[in-house]
Amino acid sequence: MDKSINNSCGQLALQAIKKLYQNVEIANVLVNENGFTADFLCDEKISLNDISKIEKEIKRLIAGGKKFEVISKLSKPNSFQKELMKSKDEHTFIKMNDFENISFYETVSAGSIKFYKIVNVGGVYWNNDSKNKQLTRLMGVAFSNKEDFEKWEAFVEDQKQRDHRKLGQDMEIFTFDEKIGQGLPIWLPNGEIIKKQIKKTLWDIFEKENFRFVDTPVLGSKELYEISGHWDHYKENNFPPLKIDAETFILRPMTCPHHLIIYKQTNHSYKELPYSLCEDSKLHRYESSGGLIGLERVRSMELFDCHIICKPDDIESTIKKLDGILKQVHQKMDIKIDRVDLSLHDPKDKVKYHDDPKMWKSSEGQLRSILNKLDYKPLEIEGEAAFYGPKIDYQVKSNLGKMITISTIQLDFLLPQRFDLEYIDENNEKKRPVLIHFGVIGTYERFIATLLSQTKGILPFWMVPTQITIIPINNKFHLEYASKIYESLKEKGFRVKLDSSDERLNKKIRDAQTSKIPYQIIIGDNEVKDKKISYRPYSKQDTTTCLLDEFIKILK
Ligand code: ZN
Repeated sequence: MDKSINNSCGQLALQAIKKLYQNVEIANVLVNENGFTADFLCDEKISLNDISKIEKEIKRLIAGGKKFEVISKLSKPNSFQKELMKSKDEHTFIKMNDFENISFYETVSAGSIKFYKIVNVGGVYWNNDSKNKQLTRLMGVAFSNKEDFEKWEAFVEDQKQRDHRKLGQDMEIFTFDEKIGQGLPIWLPNGEIIKKQIKKTLWDIFEKENFRFVDTPVLGSKELYEISGHWDHYKENNFPPLKIDAETFILRPMTCPHHLIIYKQTNHSYKELPYSLCEDSKLHRYESSGGLIGLERVRSMELFDCHIICKPDDIESTIKKLDGILKQVHQKMDIKIDRVDLSLHDPKDKVKYHDDPKMWKSSEGQLRSILNKLDYKPLEIEGEAAFYGPKIDYQVKSNLGKMITISTIQLDFLLPQRFDLEYIDENNEKKRPVLIHFGVIGTYERFIATLLSQTKGILPFWMVPTQITIIPINNKFHLEYASKIYESLKEKGFRVKLDSSDERLNKKIRDAQTSKIPYQIIIGDNEVKDKKISYRPYSKQDTTTCLLDEFIKILK
């Protein structure tokens, strides 16, 4: 991204706004990796519909050959500019011929801006503080050559196809409604099928690995979370406490304390360890409304959450076993792990991390040695550990190049101490066990958002809500035979839809494409006569005609 071109285009956008609207006060232009943002105060509400008008005005200014001149002081700064001048950062302001002083940055002349686009309009608070004035923000991007512009256009198109919010809507997976509440996802029937398929897969694997499934309440006493430390550490992300009778509850942000209470219900001999619990756990965390993004960042979520309580000398064997489980899950879910990180504490951060250098040194060393033995070459990142201990993070690279943590194994010596967990060892003595927090796929919300985006909605066949749609060309002649095919496939356990609507064939095919249904079966005269079917895989043009049994063999 060319910084000066983008800064200049942002300046021109502000001048265009000044020409088009009255009582405009210019605030600031900033350049980031996506282009520029241009902020201003304006009486009128500016919407997406105004973009082409603004773009035309920018074009006029470019054609007029505007030149920028760098100056160090403003003669008549407005309130925003005064503040910028007062700030500690060095600012150079610039002046455009026949316009007022505007912002700062390295600049180029308007003529170098060959391609540009205003991509969005939104609101923003001055200095990102909601106590300040609300400004209008134009977001845009500019280029000096066609090649870069076309590359950007292709990238934006690819992003659109990967937008899980759009995919979720097209495929009727989830929705939101302000009446229910911001950031509270509503899973639609298709979404519930996807979730159920994932849960079934996890349940099968975890049952074989001797995990015990439990179900605990979404509320917990505030005291429980004070003991664990979550109340303090996640203060900004907790919903406010609920007081009723003599009790105070919180909507739990985590499951760990609930599982530890289950462990404490009975005495445990060393022979029972490792003791492993798992749960599809509903959690609530407060996120600012500005931070909510589709399923990626929500206020209510479901986490497949596991905790393993083991003897200190079983840490290595337990983590190796968990790594093996993760390999099974990742393979089944078609996930390719790009990197494994070792997340360490930051010794300087005494607020986040409890002050026990010995514990940190030994637990971090242990994880490092286990990762070596597992043949990983982990990237070590300071300050990424949980407040209670270091962790191993399994990362997947998003198409934007950002790392997304899919799975995590976290070592914890602190919570067993805070909850006074014990086991009886070989000599009949009470000992302190270790806790391992085990996140397998994270929350269903984020996991499904990631899957949709990574696959552009082409989910693994076993997970897809509707696997096959059957389309009779003419209901009058072909529906009866199509219904028989429908019943046979259903009986074999496939999720099938019979499209007997009176829509035209092309429309039915288009609907199946939008919903990304893996196979369409088309039934016409020949299929009825020969007792065959014709099928077409998603996004393919070729149709294959065969017996139903042959088709089923392909699916398996
Ligand atoms: Zn936990």
